[in-house]
Amino acid sequence: MQGNIALDAEDERKREEELRAMEEKTERERMAATRASLPIFQYREGLLKAVEEYQVLIIVGETGSGKSTQIPQYLHETGFSKLGKIGCTQPRRVAAMSVAARVAEEVGCKLGNEVGYSIRFEDCTSEKTILKYMTDGMLMREFLGEPDLASYSVMIIDEAHERTLQTDVLFGLIKDIARYRNDIKLLISSATLDAEKFSEYFDYAPIFRIPGRRYPVDIMYTKAPEADYMDAAVVTTLQIHVTQPAGDVLIFFTGQEEIETCEEILRQRTRSMGSKISEMIICPIYANLPSQLQAKIFEPTPEGARKVVIATNIAETSLTIDGIRYVIDPGFAKQNSFNPRTGMESLIVTPVSKAAAMQRTGRAGRTGPGQCFRLYTAWSFQHELEDNTIPEIQRTNLGNVVLMLKSLGINDLMNFDFMDPPPAETLLRALEQLYALGALNDRGELTKLGRKMAEFPLDPMLAKAMVASDAYGVSEEVITVCAMLTCGGTVFYRPKDKQVHADNAHNNFHRGNVGDHVALMNVYNSWRDSGHSTQWCYENFVQIRELKRARDIRDQLVGLMERVEIDLRSDSSAHEQIKKSITAGYFYHTAQLQKNGSYRTVKNPQTVHIHPGSGMREQLPRWVVYHELVLTSKEYMRSVTEIRSEWLVEIAPHYYDKSVVAGDEAGSKGAPKGKGRSSLQGVAQVV
Ligand code: ADP
Repeated sequence: MQGNIALDAEDERKREEELRAMEEKTERERMAATRASLPIFQYREGLLKAVEEYQVLIIVGETGSGKSTQIPQYLHETGFSKLGKIGCTQPRRVAAMSVAARVAEEVGCKLGNEVGYSIRFEDCTSEKTILKYMTDGMLMREFLGEPDLASYSVMIIDEAHERTLQTDVLFGLIKDIARYRNDIKLLISSATLDAEKFSEYFDYAPIFRIPGRRYPVDIMYTKAPEADYMDAAVVTTLQIHVTQPAGDVLIFFTGQEEIETCEEILRQRTRSMGSKISEMIICPIYANLPSQLQAKIFEPTPEGARKVVIATNIAETSLTIDGIRYVIDPGFAKQNSFNPRTGMESLIVTPVSKAAAMQRTGRAGRTGPGQCFRLYTAWSFQHELEDNTIPEIQRTNLGNVVLMLKSLGINDLMNFDFMDPPPAETLLRALEQLYALGALNDRGELTKLGRKMAEFPLDPMLAKAMVASDAYGVSEEVITVCAMLTCGGTVFYRPKDKQVHADNAHNNFHRGNVGDHVALMNVYNSWRDSGHSTQWCYENFVQIRELKRARDIRDQLVGLMERVEIDLRSDSSAHEQIKKSITAGYFYHTAQLQKNGSYRTVKNPQTVHIHPGSGMREQLPRWVVYHELVLTSKEYMRSVTEIRSEWLVEIAPHYYDKSVVAGDEAGSKGAPKGKGRSSLQGVAQVV
């Protein structure tokens, strides 16, 4: 009897195993079929031959043709990975994670084993990793440890058309490597057709084109300019949903806030329509979205339903979502903008370029004919949009990049081989700032302090605050503040129907007018003391997601502090010491109260205001240090802390004059002394 049961159980186990093996086989077959159906597949052999033959190859193929997911696999399958890792850079974190996840699935391994990714503050790779996806910023950091990229046999710079700051700098660095490492292969992959420029830059490297499959897309414009593109987008989506045949919708917005608003409105409206309409599956996608939600956009849409993907320009070329048939393009994107004269850096909502608009349109025609609704007029498209987006290197602060390049021993920045050089003024501005922070000496060379600062994947000002905290005995606290500032700055949650409750809860963290920096530390420490409780987050109206991210970032920063041999010391009640550490990094970002209640920035005077979200908005202290300026209806300072003017002379004597302390009423007395400028001219001469 017992024997029979044992036999049955054994049979059962065998049957289950067979079933699983069959499922796995069909899954593998399905995956192989999907891979074979991508446009790039039929060019596999030709591509591999070209890679064999040439050291540098430019690859052009439409978004979704399979460049990011397939090329590294092809190279691996042919044995390149025996000679070293295959690296592939992505301008965006989400793309690096999502593409790596997909490839791990196709290869049939656990993410982080043979296939992994590395993004700032998150390393999902191991000893085993041979296909490594990473952000372009991370590859730049890898140069610090491995200047010849010795562990790689192939490096793919993907999404090169995006021309991010880091990609542009990488071009210069890898071009140099190619000269003395004959064994490394470089692939520059781009979704746009203007590849000649890339080819020319890389000494006329050959261009390999992957013809895409494209279906026609009808483009519709509005008759008159739209006053409210949010409303127009919502109405258009609902009209499509109610009147048009099956097919998913993709809407482009400028950022998380707009995406969440649109999601909320769509949910409300569809709820009020009840069962009269078919199901609408709303999927937001933006950089800070948790990865399990990101995966949702790739899930096939069930029969009878319609998926509406609401995305930033991440879905323009970085991510390909199958099944999109309708694109709604309000015509805007957030862009960095930097004014070297004033040092003002802001993220500004800007009209997209014609090239970007065309890419957005193209998303509707991947799997069949589609429609694109441009929420602007045909005249605007023709006459108001720029042809191409200006490369980031020409419109952003270069502090970080200059510090990196200096650490790599590249001193002559004016003659660095940039594809499109940054404005000389911006370069000088970065050098000037690094000099003021003490990262460069007056000959423009990296100092010991600068070397330490370069270890941190942070803005030089934050890095300086971290290093400075050592002298003030509050490194633990400053690490927390920096982690909180780095993780996004939207930790305080203020639901519309509970604003009073939320404000009361938030006020607790600001008690004693400690300033926004210490308040951020208070939030983190209270959460930590609650045992990282979720309930605590609900009660205090703070975003648990942000705190968890801050915790991860904090862990990494602790490791880096140890690496630069800074002791971890803590005194959370020493607010003055914490503020002084922040000021040591941010003395550049100081402002003085004016008689009319506004502020004037000390360096390059400009009128600014305290952000309405700041705990200091009603205090109006005489002197403040701020984290960043944001331009919305006005120029606002975000994350503001009160300082005493004499600290400036104490902390940055080379930069501030005693007259700052003498009188701190409005006027010219607060201006930094001329010495900073004249010494910098010294720096300018040596670069
Ligand atoms: P390209 O780099 O040429 O734009 P990709 O290699 O990124 O193309 O995409 C090829 C295909 O893989 C597309 O059909 C895309 O939808 C699919 N794909 C990419 N990432 C994922 C993912 N995370 N989940 C599911 N499918 C994905």
